[in-house]
Amino acid sequence: MIFYKTKEEIELLSKSNELVSLTHAALVPFLKPGVKTIELDKIAEQFIRDNGGIPGFLNYNGFPNTLCISVNEQVVHGIPGKYELQEGDVVSVDCGVLMNGFYGDSAYTFEIGEVKPEVKKLLQVTKESLFKGIEMAVKGNRIGDISYAVQFHAESNGFSVVRELIGHGVGRNLHEAPEVPNYGKRGRGPLIQEGLVIAIEPMINLGRKDVVQKNDGWTILTRDGKPSAHFEHTIAIVDGKAQILSNFAVIESLLNKK
Ligand code: MG
Ligand code: MG
Repeated sequence: MIFYKTKEEIELLSKSNELVSLTHAALVPFLKPGVKTIELDKIAEQFIRDNGGIPGFLNYNGFPNTLCISVNEQVVHGIPGKYELQEGDVVSVDCGVLMNGFYGDSAYTFEIGEVKPEVKKLLQVTKESLFKGIEMAVKGNRIGDISYAVQFHAESNGFSVVRELIGHGVGRNLHEAPEVPNYGKRGRGPLIQEGLVIAIEPMINLGRKDVVQKNDGWTILTRDGKPSAHFEHTIAIVDGKAQILSNFAVIESLLNKK
């Protein structure tokens, strides 16, 4: 069952998502070679708590940390640890916050120093795919219109779409109905209506679409070992159109100053 949100609930969801994006922004100064991913996790946890939130992923289905940090061939659900970021890495940071009873959920893939041109293009196209999907998130369309737009943009640029992990409704639960796949057919799936709040989150691979799970029980990796990218926004349908509740501008204004 889909829980459609009131304007008041969307206001609370907006605050939770804004804190997620500010958490991403708080990490930017630390995203450089030599930093351990567990250090990023601790910075994020403290930042969320200092701002009145609760880390949304910590202990969710037993996940051990605040952030999912997935480097290079890791697609999503990477567990922070002793790994030190290196020049040329790409790092997907997925963050969730619970505040005032509502979740925020957003992901951004960062470049560490200079990355290979084909990997830079992967990140660019993945982010564009997200926005192509958001453009289709209007009242009267269907979820399949979002899915198709994401898939078409990724595949027409020569990349592949992960099938096993998908976007989702967001609200009092981190994951709720409807499912929002990153592949599919136009005109299919649930109707998009006022008050719908969903996370759209393309996971796009440089090589083949196939993934495997690491024996830590969490980390998802590309089967061919090639890099993957992940960008995620939580959006709400307000006055018939998508309002983006998370915010890349606060992250990118800092990246541009680096
Ligand atoms: Mg997420
Ligand atoms: Mg999500």
